Amino acid sequence: PEAITVGELANRMAERVADVVKFLMRNGIMATTNQSIDADTAQLVVEEFGHRVVRVSDADVEQVIDTVVDKAEDLSPRPPIVTIMGHVDHGKTSLLDAIRKANVVSAEAGGITQHIGAYQVTTDSGAVLTFLDTPGHAAFTSMRARGAQVTDIVVLVVAADDAVKPQTVEAISHARAANVPMIVAINKIDKYEANPQKVRTDLLQYEVVVEEMGGDVQTVELSAKTGQGIDTLLEAIALQAEILELQANPNRAAHGAVIEAKLDVGRGPVATVLVQNGTLRQGDIFVVGQTWGKVRALVNDQGERVTEAAPSVPVEVLGLNGTPSAGDVLNVVETEQQAREIADYRAQVAKDKRTAAGTATLEQLMARAK
Ligand code: GDP
Ligand code: MG
Repeated sequence: PEAITVGELANRMAERVADVVKFLMRNGIMATTNQSIDADTAQLVVEEFGHRVVRVSDADVEQVIDTVVDKAEDLSPRPPIVTIMGHVDHGKTSLLDAIRKANVVSAEAGGITQHIGAYQVTTDSGAVLTFLDTPGHAAFTSMRARGAQVTDIVVLVVAADDAVKPQTVEAISHARAANVPMIVAINKIDKYEANPQKVRTDLLQYEVVVEEMGGDVQTVELSAKTGQGIDTLLEAIALQAEILELQANPNRAAHGAVIEAKLDVGRGPVATVLVQNGTLRQGDIFVVGQTWGKVRALVNDQGERVTEAAPSVPVEVLGLNGTPSAGDVLNVVETEQQAREIADYRAQVAKDKRTAAGTATLEQLMARAK
């Protein structure tokens, strides 16, 4: 339930806190400045003080966000977003590095790609894939908990010399909970002790039936160390993506998810955003979580300035008025006023929620006062 502290309520009515406390007391409610009262009680107070009550709901403020469902004819294919998961030390980081390195096209570009939390690669057959550069199950679940599903395909890394381990099992259940298909990357096949077959049979126990065993889960044997099998993995992902028929509408107001954000000394707040639908452009006005802004600059995963970012493209966004959190959703809106209103409203709701911990309902307060 919504709640507000006595102090905040007085503040918003521009009344003295003492007067509000006194009024509540007269009505048998013992509430101090920092104590929260519920919305019904607050409404009573507001009316008593002769103010007009405007209860703003999420929907009222946020309806300016474009939530129109895309028509089939407006959709076009978009790259898959891939997250790598697996047990510690099975080679997630090594694999992400190997994939990135295998795809550093030009020495002219410096050969060094900037780390922005996600990157795109192009397979030999020309498919574009987006990798989330945040291996780890915590990131995956916390993003999902915040309502941002930013993974289309999970690559489950299993070391061929170690087979299925607790975090492998955990990763399987994450992928299942998110209803996301898996591809098993059997890593470290360069090792003498490697036993890929054990990985396949181990997985059966968890109802992951790989193709070699008559199921539909692709496996790729590879070595993040030598680079063997990396290309095959990329093509396997491209194939899985084709099956999923991932689509988006590039011709609408963008929305996307923050995958990381920081306060940069030189550039101010910077958020890495994965565009999920629409196209994000320089100059766009947006709200993201409790912050808002106007896109001052967009920087791609190669560290280059770009003027726009299409669906499934990760970009750094500059021009925010604050630092959002990972998992926050970015929405492009029409006017700065709308953006500011939504951000302010969300900040207020969050603040109210924080103080709601000690909230009592009118009935409880009455009972307590007796
Ligand atoms: P993470 O914890 O899953 O991110 O695993 P890392 O990528 O940090 O790898 C753990 C260790 O395994 C490191 O010492 C890597 O060098 C090593 N490693 C990763 N992939 C391979 C591989 O394909 N072959 C061999 N021999 N070692 C690997
Ligand atoms: Mg790692």
